[in-house]
Amino acid sequence: MTDHYCVFGNPVAHSKSPRIHAEFAAQCGHDLQYAAILAARDSFADSVHRFAAAGGRGANVTVPFKEEAYALANRRTARAERARAVNTLSFADDMVIGDNTDGAGLLRDLTSNLGQPIAGQRLLLLGAGGAARGVLGPLLEQKPAVLVIANRTVDRARDLVREFAAGDELRASTYAELSGQSFALVINATSASLRGDLPPLPAGVFAAGSLAYDMMYGEQATPFLRFAGSHGAARLADGLGMLVEQAAEAFLVWRGVRPQTAAVLALLRQSGNAGGR
Ligand code: NDP
Repeated sequence: MTDHYCVFGNPVAHSKSPRIHAEFAAQCGHDLQYAAILAARDSFADSVHRFAAAGGRGANVTVPFKEEAYALANRRTARAERARAVNTLSFADDMVIGDNTDGAGLLRDLTSNLGQPIAGQRLLLLGAGGAARGVLGPLLEQKPAVLVIANRTVDRARDLVREFAAGDELRASTYAELSGQSFALVINATSASLRGDLPPLPAGVFAAGSLAYDMMYGEQATPFLRFAGSHGAARLADGLGMLVEQAAEAFLVWRGVRPQTAAVLALLRQSGNAGGR
């Protein structure tokens, strides 16, 4: 029997998730179908319950429904609790189990695909919204020497530091205060790239040999990656690897097997990577 999965979003037509999961299913020999479902902004919960009642086994959740999915789940994993957002739902009997695979996806892209060490390194995370919150726990678990969160509205960064209460290595900062500091890894978790904007970074933040990582992806390099490339970053990466890795982690949650990602990532790059989850 074919198992049914989907991604809920608004908008969602551009989503690459159906393609990614079709590739994973073929690779693992699993009989499943994965659709993109447009949920109306005021009836996300209804859409989820309808899909589950019709026999759906699980769903991914993307913008703007991750917080609503968190509220809707009647059981949540520890990493979803920490992120306060859910991107992966599993339906079992009457239970809706909420998980969050974004942080694990980023970490796997950084460490396995890009060979970037985290332990003992100086990290800079730009942004203090949902994406930053979702990756903070997994990054801290790797024991960086320092993790600075810089945000335009610095109070939001301070709130995250208080909430995650990791110790001296976790700090909040304004962009201006970054002047004179440099980092081995700079992650752009702001939505600035969506509008073609650049966070107001001082020039010296990219240490020699550093990796600049933008969670956003598209056919063109983002302003952040262009700036990083001309201000000392040795390596540049966009968020397509994170997208594929969070999908692989969701597949593992649902199907009990972790698919290989390299060929799928290469396929997406070949066919142009504009769009979103
Ligand atoms: P939120 O709306 O929750 O947060 C947006 C953040 O960006 C805030 O910290 C905001 O600062 C900051 N920001 C927005 N515009 C600017 C600007 N011009 N200059 C500086 N800072 C700015 O968004 P999310 O956290 O949900 O998403 C962030 C990004 O991550 C998106 O581009 C999204 O596509 C990407 N993403 C990618 C994933 C992947 O799999 N590759 C997964 C999840 C997210 P302030 O607080 O001051 O408003």
